[in-house]
Amino acid sequence: MENSIVPTGYVPQPNALTCQVCHIVVRNNWYFCPNCGKKLKNAPLSTSAWKQFQLYILSIFLPPFGLIPGMRYLFDKNGNAKLVGTICLLLTVLSSILTIWITMVLVQQINIELNHALTPLPGLQYNHGSSNTNNSMNYTNSILKSLQ
Ligand SMILES: [Zn+2]
Repeated sequence: MENSIVPTGYVPQPNALTCQVCHIVVRNNWYFCPNCGKKLKNAPLSTSAWKQFQLYILSIFLPPFGLIPGMRYLFDKNGNAKLVGTICLLLTVLSSILTIWITMVLVQQINIELNHALTPLPGLQYNHGSSNTNNSMNYTNSILKSLQ
């Protein structure tokens, strides 16, 4: 192989691993083929504090996107990575629940505000949140009363 940059003095073992693309002998602790750049095996997932911080922030603030790295870490062989993945998924679930809850509270709040703004006459007690026919009747009656 011309242009090969295999370290000099490296004696290949009989059962040595070879690159699938350029067939040079590679060591089993190399992540990339030094000759052609082919990925030989997946680099270990980083569990550094900074990487964890990034993953947790992603899980908290962009809930659905935390699932992808979360799953990748969860199914890693490394115990630390598994833990990071579990935390990511938990944060994603919690964040999703919180987002849905906040949305519901906001919608309810807007509904109440709108009802206040849309109440046509002062002093009318009309509960828009309920579909009770009694309330509609009371509303109609109170409008009629106020018109008398
Ligand atoms: Zn190669």
